Amino acid sequence: MRAVLAWLAAGLWLGWLGLHLGALLWGGMARVVGWGLLVQIVPVTALLWFVPALLWLLWRRKATVPHALVLLTSGPCLLLALQGFSLYPVAYPLTSLKRARPPVAVRLPTDEAMLVVWGGDEIEHNYHALDPTQRWAYDLVIEPAALGVPELEAYGCYGTEVLAPAPGRVVVAEDGHPEAIPGQFVPNWKYPAGNHVALRLETGTHLVLAHLQPGSVAVSVGQEVQEGQTLGRCGNSGNTSEPHVHLHHQRQDPGRVGLVAEGLPLWFRDLEGRDGEIMPRGGVELDGDEVRFLGERVRHRAR
Ligand SMILES: [Zn+2]
Repeated sequence: MRAVLAWLAAGLWLGWLGLHLGALLWGGMARVVGWGLLVQIVPVTALLWFVPALLWLLWRRKATVPHALVLLTSGPCLLLALQGFSLYPVAYPLTSLKRARPPVAVRLPTDEAMLVVWGGDEIEHNYHALDPTQRWAYDLVIEPAALGVPELEAYGCYGTEVLAPAPGRVVVAEDGHPEAIPGQFVPNWKYPAGNHVALRLETGTHLVLAHLQPGSVAVSVGQEVQEGQTLGRCGNSGNTSEPHVHLHHQRQDPGRVGLVAEGLPLWFRDLEGRDGEIMPRGGVELDGDEVRFLGERVRHRAR
């Protein structure tokens, strides 16, 4: 009887774990959602099996086969909590710059010189990389930046026209979210993108431009826009610590699935003094209360 219960408990756990691993093998959106659950939900549930199995082992000093299976599979799952709670973030591992298709190359979203806060393939240069949707996202500012002051107008980016990085059809044009106060980072999990525009490109994939100024969104859903056309103005709405342009490339239509999707590589072309397609790197250094941006400076090349 006891053996039957032990096998039942082990089977329940292994089935649960298998469900998530199966989602990763399935690919596509199942992989994205499966990864999210694997790093956030599975470690918590693993604890519910790991602790009793460990206590039993210590008490009885012998492990049966179902005990061993539970201990050996739930133990490593606890480590996934490091990723799920951002304690030791690593780049989303289930895709790569070479394998993720299609990549796109677009122009910069303003005509100004921009500083890359986060960008690139590696997590040291691009914090977004831990998130499957934002795997190759950028955060771009215009100097002066990293001021830590609450006045929006003090930041170089604030109010700058945000331009369509490529031609496309508008699939999201959301406005009406208020500005967050810069330098006083209060997470906004309900509307992380704030006022934002999404474009469907000729590849059938989508660009998302976020954190626009309230009342500035200048396009509407269904509209065809040309490259370089004004979409809105740089602002600080949504989950943001200072005025910047967030830009990412995702496969699924954010008008349908929102901002949980397969992130895709995004390159810049037509950069001043740079040939070909570039994935500029970001970087941020924290020195006590002071924040320093160490990323590359880039500018659109006027034709
Ligand atoms: Zn961002």
